[in-house]
Amino acid sequence: MMENNEYDDTRYETVSIESKIRQGVFHQVVKDLETGKAISCSCKCWSKGNKPCFGMKTIGYSE
Ligand SMILES: [Zn+2]
Repeated sequence: MMENNEYDDTRYETVSIESKIRQGVFHQVVKDLETGKAISCSCKCWSKGNKPCFGMKTIGYSE
């Protein structure tokens, strides 16, 4: 398989998932369409603690 260095918009999808503990707060989870797994999120759990959050776990996350 050949490497494609060009960033492909269609490879990722952002999914909004509402927090269960904070109403009106949404996780903007980035999902890799190739694997179907979450790779990133906008929330503090992920961006500061580097821990998969509720939103990422909802979509599916593999370490
Ligand atoms: Zn999150």
